[in-house]
Amino acid sequence: MKISLIIPCYNEETSLRPFYEELNRVSKEMDKYEFEILFIDDGSKDNTFSIIKELAESDSRIVYISFSKNFGKEAAMYAGFCNVTGDYAAVMDADMQDPPSLLPKMLEMLNSGEYDSVATRRVTRKGEPVLRSFFANCFYKIMHRASNVDIVSGARDFRLMKREMVDAIVSMCESNRFSKAIFGWIGFKTAWLPFENVERVAGTSKWNFFSLFKYSIDGIIGFSDTPLKISYLFSILLMLGSLTSLGFGIYEGVTAASMPDVTNLFSLLIILSAVLFVGSVSLLTLGILGMYISKVYGEVKNRPHYIVAQTNKKDVVRK
Ligand code: UDP
Ligand code: MG
Repeated sequence: MKISLIIPCYNEETSLRPFYEELNRVSKEMDKYEFEILFIDDGSKDNTFSIIKELAESDSRIVYISFSKNFGKEAAMYAGFCNVTGDYAAVMDADMQDPPSLLPKMLEMLNSGEYDSVATRRVTRKGEPVLRSFFANCFYKIMHRASNVDIVSGARDFRLMKREMVDAIVSMCESNRFSKAIFGWIGFKTAWLPFENVERVAGTSKWNFFSLFKYSIDGIIGFSDTPLKISYLFSILLMLGSLTSLGFGIYEGVTAASMPDVTNLFSLLIILSAVLFVGSVSLLTLGILGMYISKVYGEVKNRPHYIVAQTNKKDVVRK
């Protein structure tokens, strides 16, 4: 049996060696299995790629693919899934936040035969900025309600899965990728392994508030049409409101003895806010529609997910 590990790396020069050492230690404990360690260098600007090449010289289990630029973690993971050859595969961060020491336990659970994948989830977010945890929790709640995909709070991309699941992921070839939802969408039986949050061994996180916000919007748009339905709902409510006010207006016009005085400031402000409200709802609706159209545009262009600049794999799959 062969286990393939996919490790997306972007500017990880400080964490790569400690990560590799730990992985090496754990893989020695699992000596019944053959390992394939696939490093995806996602256009790093530091020494990450030279360290990977150096490691590959002394370890024949290491395969590397280096991108022509930074395509993002999603593209790196997809390149990994397209290129692994193992019976089992897992994605792991290069910063030890997905502890290699969990692998034997995950394998044991997978070998019980009951599950197709064993996924990890953080039960704490210790060490993470409070605001980031707050927004992450909000996002999971929204995503859970808005999409019919099961996304578990605190779920990491670190999961050991069988070949069938890898093939299913490869067949999901959309360019607007959101792996957490893809894993849920394809189905299969998944066991969850909880663990305490681990802080990165070195270096810094590649995500800031805005990139995470954008990523979460991508996830919602990719797996839910609820925002479009909300804009429908708004237009129906507004139409009902305008019909009601029209009814009152006609009634007043027919029954009032004299024309009402609409020149006072209060009336003007009410009219102004109604006009602005309708305008902003129309723009919001247009914006939501625009986001979906831009995603369709992205898919239609059918650009490659990633471009390989260097690799030591003979028959590298390019998608
Ligand atoms: N990563 C990547 N491409 C990117 C950003 C990140 O391949 O554009 C990799 C990164 O090297 C790491 C993993 O994805 O191995 C997770 O990134 P990070 O630790 O910065 O995310 P966090 O754990 O803070 O969510
Ligand atoms: Mg990390």
